[in-house]
Amino acid sequence: MSRLGPQEKLAILADAAKYDASCASSGTAKRNSLGGKGIGSTEGMGICHAYAPDGRCISLLKVLLTNSCIFDCHYCINRKSSNVRRARFTVEEVVQLTLAFYRRNYIEGLFLSSGIIRSPNYTMEQIVEVARSLREDHDFRGYVHLKTIPDADPELVRQAGVHADRVSINVELPTAAGLRRLAPEKDGDRIEGAMKDMKNAIEEKRDARKRFKNAPSFAPAGQSTQMIVGADSANDGDIVQRAATLYGRFGLRRIYYSAFSPIPDASAILPLRRPPLMREHRLYQSDWLIRFYGFTPGEVAQTADDAGMLALDIDPKLAWALKFREHFPVDVNRAPRELLLRVPGLGVKAVDKILSSRRWRSLDLDDVARLTVSIAKVRPFITARNWRPTLLTDRVDLKRRLQPKLEQLELFAP
Ligand code: SF4
Repeated sequence: MSRLGPQEKLAILADAAKYDASCASSGTAKRNSLGGKGIGSTEGMGICHAYAPDGRCISLLKVLLTNSCIFDCHYCINRKSSNVRRARFTVEEVVQLTLAFYRRNYIEGLFLSSGIIRSPNYTMEQIVEVARSLREDHDFRGYVHLKTIPDADPELVRQAGVHADRVSINVELPTAAGLRRLAPEKDGDRIEGAMKDMKNAIEEKRDARKRFKNAPSFAPAGQSTQMIVGADSANDGDIVQRAATLYGRFGLRRIYYSAFSPIPDASAILPLRRPPLMREHRLYQSDWLIRFYGFTPGEVAQTADDAGMLALDIDPKLAWALKFREHFPVDVNRAPRELLLRVPGLGVKAVDKILSSRRWRSLDLDDVARLTVSIAKVRPFITARNWRPTLLTDRVDLKRRLQPKLEQLELFAP
């Protein structure tokens, strides 16, 4: 391992990190180095982008400290029994790499995770030391997201929040049974305990900052977690319910859903095929319905089929509207915000614009059309000054009319 050069290490450790979906630099405090103070910024553009295997754009240096691990989680390519090339960065190497990439404007920050080396405490110390050195030795003001190790000493996990914008602690699998089966060395209670400690520390520091302007910030972008989808038998209903519980109990900023990717030399207890990526997408959509559109987890689950799975051919909001048509059409000129948010094709911004515009005048269909990508999707579910859907809302073929058309990809398309 020690004979590998930095580029070889980077190739191995950045590749090993691609299975982790839980990074996004939203929601943190604004910092910059204007006026020659420090280096880095959490704002601004002009960075290079990395792409996860499914095409999502990631603008961080996303890397592992090491892909060696003393644990043997079945779904993980870095598990102890996996036959992969191993590499390990020193703390100083990650610090210098981050600074060099930042100076070249390749990245806007660092996402750092690690396999467990020697012990959870030792690994957590190393992860924290990277962030401490960036912040204190180099006055680095870019975004830092640290993946923490729930088995480590709570004080070490707390230290991560002192230096990072965001911390994440992965619940890994949607059910306790799935965790026991696929990650037997992990302890669900300890994971939730670490999330609770982090939530308390974030709230405590937030309160302190309200009272004392100069109180140090602590994980200003909050905590997040990741659930692997499709590696165990949990259905979408289970996942939606689990996600709602986690948001409620731990004040999470985000939950990331990561479709299980089959790995080389996979354990025999794993499925042979990955779930459709559309399943992951539908879970993100249902997550948004609960967080921003006023749906309860139970309402989202009502759209699932008998096996508890969300539809793949239409989004969960449209699925709900088609199933509960008695709630439609809603009058865009009179309906309250919570009903307008239920209309397929109307996003939060469109609803807020409708609410502000209708104070001055009565809205017609063209007014609504200007606020949405597809008025065809909205029309069956609203009334407006010059529009009544009459029988359209109850047509038996409405789903077929509204579901996105499947496109045949052209072999030689540009
Ligand atoms: S502890 Fe983390 S890195 Fe180690 S095998 Fe489990 S998931 Fe992989």
